[in-house]
Amino acid sequence: MKYNITSYSTALFSTWINVEELNLLIDAGDGLSAGLLQKSRKIKNVFITHPDRDHLNGLPQFVQLNARDGFPRIHYPKDSGSFPAMSSFLKKFDPHVTSSSWVGIEDSSRVEIKNNILVEALRNKHIKAPQGVHKSFGYKVYEVKHKLKTEFQSKSSSEIKDIVNIHGREFITEKIETNILSFSGDTPVDDYSKWDGSEILIHESTFLKNEGDSQVESKGNKHSRIDEVLQMVKEINIGTLILNHFSSRYSKEEIDSAVLKLIKEYKIQIPVFLVYPGEIKRDILRTTPINGTMNSD
Ligand SMILES: [Zn+2]
Repeated sequence: MKYNITSYSTALFSTWINVEELNLLIDAGDGLSAGLLQKSRKIKNVFITHPDRDHLNGLPQFVQLNARDGFPRIHYPKDSGSFPAMSSFLKKFDPHVTSSSWVGIEDSSRVEIKNNILVEALRNKHIKAPQGVHKSFGYKVYEVKHKLKTEFQSKSSSEIKDIVNIHGREFITEKIETNILSFSGDTPVDDYSKWDGSEILIHESTFLKNEGDSQVESKGNKHSRIDEVLQMVKEINIGTLILNHFSSRYSKEEIDSAVLKLIKEYKIQIPVFLVYPGEIKRDILRTTPINGTMNSD
């Protein structure tokens, strides 16, 4: 399935990603409501990667416009104090808005956002925190399917019915989980295996060159460099790559030429899409990838 993914993402200023069919928003930087307009009203679940302001400052307007019967559900790394603070501020600021829910989650938590669609949190190294303290995540989205086990595939439907009556449905099916989408969050490149097998990987690529990683966002939080991201992508199995969170110091031309050079160097065959600084990129998968007119299905 080709999802309708729309994103704005510029390091330091704002990042948000909407996956329309999943009623999902990952990160909630400034401008998300103005950028998505009515489409923002379809969002039911929000997952924030970390409490840097460029990833959450769009929440007040979004929540104010969209709160209804327990929605939206806003998931955040459990030990980030910014979210309870914002939630209680918003309750005073917009007392008529009562129904949003705020859910602190831990590393490896899994949240069902739709029938057979799960979102999993994965700790990353953007913010230093002791083990067991949860402050910064990437997210993986899984589709779960129940497939008939091979040994039952030749049975007739009445035989299957009988077996299910005796042993239950679990007995004849196996669970297949497909990692349909992943988002790195803000992070340095670390463990390659994290994203291996993602059908679509959205990865941050703040820097084109080695320019230190404390200049773009304060507090010494860590980011990725484009060559490290593409080297990882070369080593693992990914269907489609979307790069976002570039620093605004780079022009489109600089980004294009750095990315194309590395795609060639690392012989990357999958479609690669770019979210340029300062621009909303709508329905990304239906645009033309930087490396040609490849079919990204
Ligand atoms: Zn950021």
